[in-house]
Amino acid sequence: MNCVHCGAPLPGKTIRCPYCDTLNDVDLRRMQENLGKEAASDRKCPRCDILMKSVDLGIDGTFYIERCERCLGLFFDPGELEHVLDVSTQPPDEVDRERLNVMIEEEYLDERRPVKYLKCPVCHELMNRKVYGAKSGVIVDYCSQHGVWLDGGELAQLVKWADAGGIKVDAEAKERDAKSEARRERFDRILKQKEEEGRGGGGSIRSDDALSMVLRGFFGW
Ligand SMILES: [Zn+2]
Ligand SMILES: [Zn+2]
Ligand SMILES: [Zn+2]
Repeated sequence: MNCVHCGAPLPGKTIRCPYCDTLNDVDLRRMQENLGKEAASDRKCPRCDILMKSVDLGIDGTFYIERCERCLGLFFDPGELEHVLDVSTQPPDEVDRERLNVMIEEEYLDERRPVKYLKCPVCHELMNRKVYGAKSGVIVDYCSQHGVWLDGGELAQLVKWADAGGIKVDAEAKERDAKSEARRERFDRILKQKEEEGRGGGGSIRSDDALSMVLRGFFGW
């Protein structure tokens, strides 16, 4: 994507052109033709502390998210961002791992500034930060109760990520995590059982003997 003012290529995860300082409205570009009415919102932008607007993305009829007109950040209620990515991107048959690897290396323009924790626009508690989805490189602010905040440029980056097959990669990573968690639980259970057997049998088995038995059994040593 290029700056609308000077034409310079825009880095990912930002709307501010590093050359001419123009704010580029990149996030809703793809949804532009479907955009419906705007309405006043009673939620404030966590960055600018001014009231945001409800914007209708026109997905499945009407679909409102909140947007700050000053910084162009977006707030999504729980599940809304996933839905937007789902309907507005075309995941490829083959995951484009090369592109994902490039994306994860992309720095935030303001990476060296200290991290500022933002308040949830709904409950006003400080939000948490996490990387959204495996290999996206996009760090989002979220309230576990009320939703997720994206700074300007982050939605466009997540759209690119989803277009490269990121959602699939994320699902695979979650599945791997669940498997290794299940494996760990099973390991703990066997270890505990062996220890109890050891104790029950007059205490002749020490716990490290129990451990090595478990390891042998578990990994087939
Ligand atoms: Zn520019
Ligand atoms: Zn703002
Ligand atoms: Zn909240």
